[in-house]
Amino acid sequence: MRVAKFHGQGRITIEEADDPRPAENEVVVRVAACALCGSDFRPWRQGWPVTSGHEIAGRIDQPGHSRHGERVVVYIPVFCGTCEACRAGRTHLCDHGTGVRQLIGWQRPGGYAEKLTAPERCLLPVPDDIPDRLAPLLLDTIGTTAHGVRLARRIVTSGKTLVLGAGPIGLGAIIVLNRMGFGPIEVVEPSDYRAHFAETLGVKRTTPEAATAGRYSMVIEATGKDPARQLALEAVAAEGAIVQLGESDAWSISETRSVRLKDFFLIRSFYFPIGDYEANLDLLRADRDKYERLVDAQADLDGLSELFNSFARGERLKPQLALS
Ligand SMILES: [Zn+2]
Ligand SMILES: [Zn+2]
Repeated sequence: MRVAKFHGQGRITIEEADDPRPAENEVVVRVAACALCGSDFRPWRQGWPVTSGHEIAGRIDQPGHSRHGERVVVYIPVFCGTCEACRAGRTHLCDHGTGVRQLIGWQRPGGYAEKLTAPERCLLPVPDDIPDRLAPLLLDTIGTTAHGVRLARRIVTSGKTLVLGAGPIGLGAIIVLNRMGFGPIEVVEPSDYRAHFAETLGVKRTTPEAATAGRYSMVIEATGKDPARQLALEAVAAEGAIVQLGESDAWSISETRSVRLKDFFLIRSFYFPIGDYEANLDLLRADRDKYERLVDAQADLDGLSELFNSFARGERLKPQLALS
């Protein structure tokens, strides 16, 4: 099979590799679509020992298996189903009782390849009305953002909301927030292309300076960058909630006076519990036309390198590797 190798400094090559062999309780999945994600820039810049790609839709390719041919998305946390976290429904936090977490596309091979193997229980069925190109959005774009907003709803149920960053996660959050009744929504985004798309979703573009004094009931931080983390702390209203969705290796923020003299909640959503999946299918169906517009570019393995370059330049919203 063909597989993308990330060497670092943005260099991707496509190589021949042996077909993957499933271990016990695993099956082979043939990749149909794998969406690019901002977090992929880490392997793209640094290089990565295993195949990247973690927003995967495909088909089970295991002749003779009862699920052969089934259309699925890949739930990336490998979970045991029996540990304390799993029994509490927090499958995304499973550490197998060992303290070791394993994510598909990070610690074991992912979807920038023609095939991968995955534990059967990590393969979520995709209903016939959801096409391959939309299915990856059920994972990070809808799953992670909606989980973050659901956590925040324990504290804040409506009101003025600020979204920092209109990349795939920020845009996904805007669609979910609209659907869950939050508003008015404002967005801070340096890229005109992304900001204009956000405006088509009915949100108002604002500046970091104006947002600092905004006193928002909820702030979604979707950049993973320190200036936005700092701005989130300044802009959240007293007793409001910050939902931290962006990620990077290190944080550097300051406890300014306005941060110190305020009560607020800081929430993190890393991924979603598997039990959210049915509700996330409904979110996709409810705003299907908007999610369709997010998928603004597709390429095969030979075009993956250029797709990453254009994504890095901020010229794409939620591009994807698409294999027939
Ligand atoms: Zn992702
Ligand atoms: Zn577990």
